Amino acid sequence: MADHHSLMEYAGRQKRLVAGLRPDGVDALLITHLPNVRYLCGFSGTAGVLLVPASGRPAKPIFYTDGRYAQQAANEVHGAKVVITKKAPLNETCEAITRAKIKVLGFETEHLSYSAYRLLSQTLRGKVRLKPMAGSVELLRVNKDQGEIEQIRASVLVAASLFQTALTAIRPGVTESLVAGEMELQARRAGAEKMSFDTIVAAGARSALPHGRASLQPIPGNGFIILDWGVILAGYCSDMTRTVHVGAASATHLRMYQAVREAQWASVEAVRPGATTGEVDRAAREMLKKSGFGTYFTHSTGHGVGLEVHEAPRLAKDQTQRLTPGMVVTIEPGVYIPDEGGVRIEDMVLVTESGREVLTPTTKDLITL
Ligand code: ZN
Ligand code: ZN
Repeated sequence: MADHHSLMEYAGRQKRLVAGLRPDGVDALLITHLPNVRYLCGFSGTAGVLLVPASGRPAKPIFYTDGRYAQQAANEVHGAKVVITKKAPLNETCEAITRAKIKVLGFETEHLSYSAYRLLSQTLRGKVRLKPMAGSVELLRVNKDQGEIEQIRASVLVAASLFQTALTAIRPGVTESLVAGEMELQARRAGAEKMSFDTIVAAGARSALPHGRASLQPIPGNGFIILDWGVILAGYCSDMTRTVHVGAASATHLRMYQAVREAQWASVEAVRPGATTGEVDRAAREMLKKSGFGTYFTHSTGHGVGLEVHEAPRLAKDQTQRLTPGMVVTIEPGVYIPDEGGVRIEDMVLVTESGREVLTPTTKDLITL
């Protein structure tokens, strides 16, 4: 909602961004990645660019969008002048850049199409130097403020409430897709905008696929089911995984589950301010090595979550970034044995001043259906 509080928040974020740009000698930064636009000025629509000055010209940030978003921009945008463009927003942005006599313009290397880059470089040729900038806004976004943490908590709780829906829907013969559908309907009932990614329901041998999106395959009478899902609530994502078992679990399956559970616990325990993301990853990896499943853990341990479901930091092998309070990360080791099945357990964890808080409230005991 439009209130003084959010204006202060956006102004603070813009100020922190500008403080980081000055040492690079950039006069302004062109923000084209929509989650970054939303983070800096509140706009949640799907077309628009934000020009953030670092040198006082233009006097304040300008948000450009087209007529379809006039009403939405008026309601949502804070801390930026809104310009509704008649031509393509980027063309008008170029004119403003020229008018403001910007000499060095930073752009988001990972979020500018080749055609947009060509338009900029041709229109601004000889007047403005384009400087590639990677991750300037993402760097700020890794540490969530109090308001963001509350949004994430709410998103995590809605996601967690869908686990019961899944348990009720799972039966041999029912398709994975139907289980996902029941979860997604319940998510909307609970107020979610949508899922934060395509729901993963991977049963039986398909549970050995780390990213087995719900398919039309019926759930077999015996085996693991990996459920990995999340919702978006007020823009903020959640992401969690639980693995359940249909029918009695064999001794091998029990060992697999126990190994992943212990590895997940070890990584969660390693989360604290000052620890590197690589150390947190290693904690799970070493536990799985000890239990003999090391070679079956084929992905990284986790990632940041916020306005995007996958964002910085990366919790992976040999990563050196240090955890700091306010980061929200997933811890999600897994074991995948071809033709046998797979297990993954994923929680969202907040880095606190003194250590960590596991946000996901759901049990990690093996549930047999
Ligand atoms: Zn997940
Ligand atoms: Zn995840």
